[in-house]
Amino acid sequence: MARIFSGIQPSGELHIGNYLGAVKNWVALQATAESFFCIVDYHAIIAAYDPADLRIRRREMALGLLASGLDPQHTSVFVQSDVPEHTELAWIFNTVTPVGELERQTQFKDKSARQESVMAGLLNYPILQAADILLYRADTVPVGEDQVQHLELSRVIARRWNAQYAPDADYFPEPQPKLTPTRRIMGLDGQAKMSKSLNNTIGLMESPEEIWAKLRPAMTDPKRIKKTDPGTPEVCNIYHLHKAFSPPATVEHVAMQCSTAGWGCIDCKKVLAGSMETELVPIRSRAAELRARPAALDEALAAGAEKCRRVAKETMRGVRDRMGFD
Ligand code: ADP
Repeated sequence: MARIFSGIQPSGELHIGNYLGAVKNWVALQATAESFFCIVDYHAIIAAYDPADLRIRRREMALGLLASGLDPQHTSVFVQSDVPEHTELAWIFNTVTPVGELERQTQFKDKSARQESVMAGLLNYPILQAADILLYRADTVPVGEDQVQHLELSRVIARRWNAQYAPDADYFPEPQPKLTPTRRIMGLDGQAKMSKSLNNTIGLMESPEEIWAKLRPAMTDPKRIKKTDPGTPEVCNIYHLHKAFSPPATVEHVAMQCSTAGWGCIDCKKVLAGSMETELVPIRSRAAELRARPAALDEALAAGAEKCRRVAKETMRGVRDRMGFD
């Protein structure tokens, strides 16, 4: 039976890039296999942070995941630091990972180029990620496109550890990514991927007014200057958001109106705002319910952590045994 694992940083509020690229898929997959969804707080401390703020962001992320539709009856939602085996296995994987592989990671190259002093944690981040996944011996990892290279490294690590310590059995599976149709959502500037760190996001819990204030000036087809210019939907970020949020008939209508200069960009964005509301209203209302019952959130996280600790201990028993630690 397939095992699914994926993680998300406790960045506070979920944005629509996280939601469309990953979390919506998690909700669809949660009941199809044994699944584990992790709030990766050890990953989040690589950048400077405020400890009190981390506590809040961790809870807000848990709330966002449950409000998006993850159901503790079907899946385990948990916090990484509640399962100490993540860091134990990461250390072990440090010993089978060539530094060259880490230095080749695009995210490391991008992020380290912007820093004066680069911490080892930034370089080793994908090792912890491999440990997160392989601790549950997961073979399927629903993620956005930005994580595909890291997953390739997880497969290298699984292969190397297996070759060294379990040559007769594939103890760790080689995990494969599972992408959504909306594998990469661009930010509102249309320049780079939507990411909390780039300040170009729309949060799932933002009000319709806040969303409209961001959508209204958002980048569209750069060649479409006047309302009377016909646009090219495929190059327009707003059109891609329509494909994620609007029903197929609306998407077709939008493409036709844009390419024949029937609608201006603001008309098109108003329809998008309506489609987004249809999807986001139930999420916001579930979030409000959860906010009123904080004990339910605590219970869900405690149950998730308990199940995960059990699975993690089992995996580590095999690892320790094969590596001569008992
Ligand atoms: P962020 O990049 O905002 O810090 P994370 O690194 O915590 O988000 O990513 C959580 C999940 O969301 C990952 O599976 C990642 O692939 C996905 N994701 C993040 N940003 C995007 C995006 N712009 N488009 C599609 N998926 C995304």
